[in-house]
Formats: sequence, structure tokens, C-alpha cells
Amino acid sequence: MAIEPALGVVPAARTEPKSFEYQRADSWEEAVELLRIWDGEAKIIAGGQSLVPMVNLRLAQPTALVDVNDIGDEGGPRLEYDANGPVVVVPALTRHTTILESDLIAEHCPILHRAVGLVGNVRVRNRGTFGGSVAHADPTAEIPCSVLSMGGTMMLRGQRGTRTVPATEWFRTYLTTAAEPDEVLTEVRIPSAAGASWAFEEEVRRFSDFATVLVAVQARAGRLPAIVLGGVADRPFLVPDDVVDPLRNPETETLAAVAESTARSVKPESDVHASAEHRRRLVRVLVRRALVHSLRPDASRGEFR
Ligand code: FAD
Repeated sequence: MAIEPALGVVPAARTEPKSFEYQRADSWEEAVELLRIWDGEAKIIAGGQSLVPMVNLRLAQPTALVDVNDIGDEGGPRLEYDANGPVVVVPALTRHTTILESDLIAEHCPILHRAVGLVGNVRVRNRGTFGGSVAHADPTAEIPCSVLSMGGTMMLRGQRGTRTVPATEWFRTYLTTAAEPDEVLTEVRIPSAAGASWAFEEEVRRFSDFATVLVAVQARAGRLPAIVLGGVADRPFLVPDDVVDPLRNPETETLAAVAESTARSVKPESDVHASAEHRRRLVRVLVRRALVHSLRPDASRGEFR
């Protein structure tokens, strides 16, 4: 009698990766050249914390893996100045742990600093890279939502040279970005948010899980606050200006009204983790909490649970 595998058990044959070639690149130029040679069939491997599980489960079946770890993190995050003021440059191969330990990130990109501390566990943070998370583009991941809320810009290198893509145009759909198959993400430039008001809230089923719903809010002087949601769409979701507009007058009632209209503006899907209705309720509660925290820290937070 044939024995059927129990529900949720993946048969052994499907947990083995399809065989692939493995090559190391010493520079981004070499990585681009290897991607060209493999003609769209190769994948970059950085920390491997998302790609390896996908390859093991055959959700990704690259012909070759191009390992970029020898390029290194170029000294980690650094501060530069452009025409608009100070900018934090985060090299793609910066490990999550390096970001967590960076005083520069804590001061100039406080949302990112907070968000990285919520990613996975210490093993994942020691191996996983900032660029890998941004390139992987999981719509429930903390780092992509942070980068969108902070107005980051992606720096790409490909066969045709270098180009930049703003975060608002980077995330296309589930695990899909604006990068071409022959392009690598080399760094992300993030305007300094030193002194800005901000909040980061998330709901997880168990500590270190991916978020069911998360909210990142950054409010800089003279601009409408940016509200970004994770876990409610096929990509990190930037709440439209017309929904955020009432926050020009951030009275406590206005914050509640914006939280309500934000919840109405999203169309989350039900999945094994949460129903659409539960996610929408989480949006209402977490957005209100994040807005109070960032815009009216004098107001009580307890009533929003
Ligand atoms: P890889 O796995 O090496 O690559 C991921 C994808 O990005 C691949 O498609 C790869 O080709 C591409 N890529 C990588 N670098 C580049 C580049 N420079 N240019 C172009 N493409 C590139 N993440 C969260 O956000 N929150 C969590 O709570 C969380 N929990 C986790 C728990 C576990 C147990 C594990 C294993 C992972 C978890 N992660 C979580 C994912 C983790 O943050 C990954 O490190 C991250 O998503 C991907 O980074 P990486 O360097 O490992 O990328």
C-alpha cells in the first residue's frame, strides 16, 4: 500500500535543488559579465537567506549562481553630500548586523535601524545583506518598506552602464523589481532623516517572523508624511497623497480619520497567515498607533490596542 505524505510535508525529491553552476565574482563588473554570459539564466547570490530556500524548494531554478560575497561591503554605510543635503550610502553587501551596529544608520536612518532589528534571527542577520533584501522585494519584509518610506534610490550596474531607480518605481510585484536580468544592485542612497519624526510598527505571529502587517512612517519638515505598509499588497505600499493630505493638520481626530481611510484604501488578500479583514483591521490600528507615535507623541497610545 502506498503511503501518502502527511499534509504540509514536502516529499524529499522536491527539497533537493536542481543542479546549477557556481561562480564567484571579485567585482560588480565581473558579476555583470557573468550574468551576461549566462544570458538571464543566472542569479546573484549574496547572503543566500532567501535564495537558498527558494532553490532548495525549486521555487527558483537558476542555471548558475554568481556569488558576489568577495566584493565585500566597501566599509559599510557612509555619509555623502549632494545638492539636496546629506545622503546615507548603503552598499548592497552590507550585512543586516552591520546596519544594526551602525551609529550612522541609527542617527540618519532611524526607521531602517529599527526595522533591521526585527529581521529574522541573529543567524539571518549575520548572513543576510541589505541589498539582497531590497532586491528580493518581499512585500512583507521590513527593509524594502523602510527604504520606500525613507525615499531611497537604487544604484544599478548592467551591461549598458549604471542607472538609478527611485524606490517608488523599484518594487513591481511579488519578488519582482525594476532590475533587468543582467543588472546588479550595487548600493542604495537614502536622504538623511536625522531629526525627522518617525515610527515603525508591526504585528507578527511569533517573534522574528515576517510581519503579518507592518507600517513605517517618516515625517520631515515641510513635507507630507510618508506612510508605507507591508503585507497588504503585492509590493510595499506607499499610501497615496490624497489619503495622507489631512495630516497637514495632525490633530488627534485627524490621525484616527487618516488611519481609517488608509485601511479603506488597501485591498489585502487572505492567506494562511491572516484573513483580508484581519489585515485591514491591523492597518487601522497600526497606522493610528504609528501616526500618534510620530506626529503626536504627547497623546496616549494605550487606547489604540
Ligand atoms: P539572497 O538570498 O542571496 O538573494 C535574494 C534575492 O536577491 C535573489 O534573487 C538574488 O539573486 C537577489 N540579489 C541579492 N543581492 C543582489 C544584488 N546585489 N543585486 C541584484 N540581485 C541581488 N527578512 C525579513 O525582512 N524579515 C524577516 O523577519 C525575515 N526572517 C527570516 C527568517 C529566516 C529563517 C530566513 C532564512 C530569512 C529571513 N528573512 C527575513 C530574509 C532575510 O532578510 C534575507 O537575508 C534577505 O531577504 C535576502 O538577503 P540575502 O543577502 O540573504 O539575499
